Amino acid sequence: MWREFWPRALLTCAIGVCSIIGDVGLKWLRSDKNESARAAFDNATHATVGGLTWMLIVVLSRKSIARNLNSIFSCFLLASFVDLDHFIAARSWHIHVSETQDATHLQKRPFLHCTTIPLLLWTFFILLSNTFHSPLMEHISWVILAAFLSHHIRDGTRRGPTN
Ligand SMILES: [Zn+2]
Repeated sequence: MWREFWPRALLTCAIGVCSIIGDVGLKWLRSDKNESARAAFDNATHATVGGLTWMLIVVLSRKSIARNLNSIFSCFLLASFVDLDHFIAARSWHIHVSETQDATHLQKRPFLHCTTIPLLLWTFFILLSNTFHSPLMEHISWVILAAFLSHHIRDGTRRGPTN
């Protein structure tokens, strides 16, 4: 029993500690000069929390971490990818151009931050997996959901459920 308990407890704590370090780090970097560093640090935190979230799901499912490195890395990348919508919505690759037209000063949360999107993607892939009897599609649907939800919950905890 303890052999199963410790990896679960450690990964759960790692997700919490990583989120706290991410938030504290952002406070340290609070300055206009550090806008790019803040964005990169925040994105790296999202990616790490996403990867750790899938690692915890693998452990809870009693599967091998070593055999699931692909999906852990996919969840890591996807949790980071969610913030690309800041740049799409701003139609700008500049981290800081002006208060209204750059990736870090949008008036609303951009479209990939709407939780309906991962729910629709999850439904779509689950339907595909049922139609084509594909365990891979089902697997993808859960990785997408975990990556988006870990990102949305972290953003929502810090900024509130805006848009
Ligand atoms: Zn975000």
